[in-house]
Amino acid sequence: MRARRNVLIVEDEPEVAGALKRQLEELSCSVEVALSGDVGLSMALGKPFDLIVLDIMLPGLDGLEVCRRLRVRQTYTPVLIVSARTSEIDKVLGLEMGADDYLTKPYSAAELVARVRSIFRRVDALSGQGGTVHEPLRIGDALTIDPGSREVTVRGKPVVLTQKEYDLLLLFAHNPGRVYSRSQLLDAVWGYSHDGYDHAVECHINRLRAKIEDDPSRPRLLLTVWGVGYKFSSAD
Ligand code: CA
Repeated sequence: MRARRNVLIVEDEPEVAGALKRQLEELSCSVEVALSGDVGLSMALGKPFDLIVLDIMLPGLDGLEVCRRLRVRQTYTPVLIVSARTSEIDKVLGLEMGADDYLTKPYSAAELVARVRSIFRRVDALSGQGGTVHEPLRIGDALTIDPGSREVTVRGKPVVLTQKEYDLLLLFAHNPGRVYSRSQLLDAVWGYSHDGYDHAVECHINRLRAKIEDDPSRPRLLLTVWGVGYKFSSAD
């Protein structure tokens, strides 16, 4: 059995925070609430959480800034943005503030539960089921991935990847030879598939290639399967 998940809610409206708390407790999460961004950030920095549910419009430090400051750290905590401001949500995705998913207010309890479950499933899958510590993956003679620290090196040199680039790489590396369509990648890594986001996959693949391939225009690791999607090379 998995331990209870610790969730932090950062939300300045006590009623909204209270409703969220009850919904998450029904998912057997242990929930703490911060009513401002500053308090939320210091709580998040003080102890590990399995998920942070973050409002954007907060007095003082806003949700985007909280998200940005969390992402500067090595330790990775999933963030679910819950906000009424769709333009800000576009910014979260566009600027890659590092949120894992978002919900727009008003949302239904069922939607919240689905998003939270999907984040937990994805985190478990990417970390290799339930937080077991994994040996670094070595791919060919150049690439290593350390799922514990989320560090990636190419020929011994550290490579800085965004969260989504890292998640994509790890998914491929765990499943060499398996072909993924763009919508499967959106589902597995972004946790949702919205129309029009296929280009986001291509962008991330191209940036990932630029970082890990010797010659990104002739990739040897991250291969295009024409008309279908992408796969990771299964040969050394
Ligand atoms: Ca608010």
